[in-house]
Amino acid sequence: MPNPLTPTNRTRLAPSPTGALHLGNARTILVTWALARQRGWRIVLRIEDLDGPRVKPGAIEETIETLAWLGMDWDEGPIVQSHGLAPYREAMCRLASAGLAYPSELTRTEIEAAASAPQEGVHETAFPASLRPPAASLGPRAFDREDMNWRLVVPAGAVEVEDEVMGRVRLDPSTSVGDFVIWTKRGQPSYQLAVVVDDARQGVTHVVRGNDLIDSAGRQVVLYRALGLSPMPGYAHLPLVRGSDGKRLAKRHGDTRVSAYRSAGVSSERIVGLVAGWSGMERRPIAAREFAGALDLRRIPRADVIFGPEDDAWLRNRC
Ligand code: GLU
Repeated sequence: MPNPLTPTNRTRLAPSPTGALHLGNARTILVTWALARQRGWRIVLRIEDLDGPRVKPGAIEETIETLAWLGMDWDEGPIVQSHGLAPYREAMCRLASAGLAYPSELTRTEIEAAASAPQEGVHETAFPASLRPPAASLGPRAFDREDMNWRLVVPAGAVEVEDEVMGRVRLDPSTSVGDFVIWTKRGQPSYQLAVVVDDARQGVTHVVRGNDLIDSAGRQVVLYRALGLSPMPGYAHLPLVRGSDGKRLAKRHGDTRVSAYRSAGVSSERIVGLVAGWSGMERRPIAAREFAGALDLRRIPRADVIFGPEDDAWLRNRC
């Protein structure tokens, strides 16, 4: 039982069941799980099934089963985001009544037309400050339209994130993304809002995830502040797994789904062993528990990992 007098450290495994778990996701989740088990954090399993393509029937069960097959366990959950939207609505009401959120009907084309050309590598066009409604109409309001996009009033200025892997990172959401979307016209919170509301209400003190989300950390800090939530979690953003062409691991690199290797007869120990090899340890088949005992976050190479044909052959025990 956790001691009620000391705050409980807690992390989350937060898979999105929209795309099946591939080796890159497995790497992030295994490292998160291993850190939690070696540092005594509690683990919440949270299924992030909002703000993406529709989840295919059975995908959630398959994701959970794959995590268990890899040798992971958890203390709380699974909590499925789509099963209850009330906490996100409540957060929207608070932001709207504080005058920090406003509905916005602008289309992407209108936003792009008003914005300067997006920076290379940034997919989202920053929402230009010129499109924010005038201050006079930005006062407290009711969150009364769930069928519209709502944006957060993002304050000017940079925020700093102290990251256990990346060090101190300075981010300025007011210039990189501007007033970002926190509620979508599909009647759901955006990823940014859902994550902050959930991390706060689930008592998450440590967020470990891929470094493709470091920019999101800046937006999430701004949202924590806007909602008056504290304490903010500590962060560790891990290097990504990429294909031989340097691009983020995806379908074009072949079928790297954990389930595909599993059906091809690859053992979970081999998959964990590959992840160990990517994490500053010897590459050899090992159980998840052993990986958790030996992992040293400081020894994880800081550069992104490349998954190539040689790794695939090793998994299939052909070399
Ligand atoms: N659901 C996200 C993913 O699978 C993770 C989000 C997060 O860790 O904040 O990439």
